[in-house]
Amino acid sequence: MSDVVREYLEGKGLRIRTGVKVEKLTGREGKVAGVKLSSGETVAADMVFMNVGVRPNTQLATDIGLEMGRFGIKVNAYQETSDPHILAGGDCVEKINFITGKPTPGQLRGPAVVQGRLAAKRLAGHEIAFPGVLDAGGCKMFDMTIAATGLTEENATREGFTPVSAVVDSRSKHGMIPGMKPWKLKLVFDKNTRKLIGGQIVSQDIAPAREIDAVTAFILGGKTISDLTTFTSACNPDISSEPSAEPITIAAEQALQKVKNG
Ligand SMILES: Cc1cc2nc3c(=O)[nH]c(=O)nc-3n(C[C@H](O)[C@H](O)[C@H](O)COP(=O)(O)OP(=O)(O)OC[C@H]3O[C@@H](n4cnc5c(N)ncnc54)[C@H](O)[C@@H]3O)c2cc1C
Repeated sequence: MSDVVREYLEGKGLRIRTGVKVEKLTGREGKVAGVKLSSGETVAADMVFMNVGVRPNTQLATDIGLEMGRFGIKVNAYQETSDPHILAGGDCVEKINFITGKPTPGQLRGPAVVQGRLAAKRLAGHEIAFPGVLDAGGCKMFDMTIAATGLTEENATREGFTPVSAVVDSRSKHGMIPGMKPWKLKLVFDKNTRKLIGGQIVSQDIAPAREIDAVTAFILGGKTISDLTTFTSACNPDISSEPSAEPITIAAEQALQKVKNG
């Protein structure tokens, strides 16, 4: 999937370097002038952006002695901290990954909003547990939209799963309709349980990229390869591919063949 993104961005004139480190920024007359890479190359620059990640400000929680995890305040599934009179949610709390069950930062808007609501519901007497996060997200670069949820094949392997994956090309409209844009879906399943554990979409149209939410829903619902072979999508020539090109079912068909053949 990343090869498709790389080719697209390079076609737009971007130069992408992977597998090299930034060694230092070089300057001239008090301004940045370049970036020196571990490959020995120096890239000229007028401006440098650094993605350094985020860390929550949890000083208040630490000061009052709440139990902390590796990524933030520890809470149970009802957003209760180690002091049951104090509830917390959002970036400042440590999340649990829905698939691995392991602590994770999960610093995204969706969990922040829903955990805030859940904390309020808990105070109102509801017993609704937060299921964990899948780190679903996306971004748009030029006319390409990229979205992902759950585990990538690489992360799944690192977490001890045996992933089975399938990549399918689809289209935003029926093949005969003008304005049709291509999109690509990858699904990742766990070979042992046959459950869906991840998905990625690369699309020339925003709308199909939202299908990532369907993938998220299927993961949360514990759907398996067999379940997804029977998925029927809403279909209209102007708003979707023909059902025979619906990529979730095709990916499931391909994964079924792969697990059947060992
Ligand atoms: C540049 C950027 C882009 C992002 N883009 C996306 C995106 O596209 N999609 C997505 O899902 N997520 C995105 N995020 C992440 C998203 O913004 C956060 O996950 C979300 O804002 C977390 O909400 P929150 O309420 O937990 O924390 P925050 O929004 O950080 O709110 C916490 C508030 O608490 C205040 N505060 C802290 N300590 C105290 C104190 N002691 N007393 C009183 N107030 C205090 C802070 O000032 C702050 O206003 C992005 C984040 C950044 C930085």
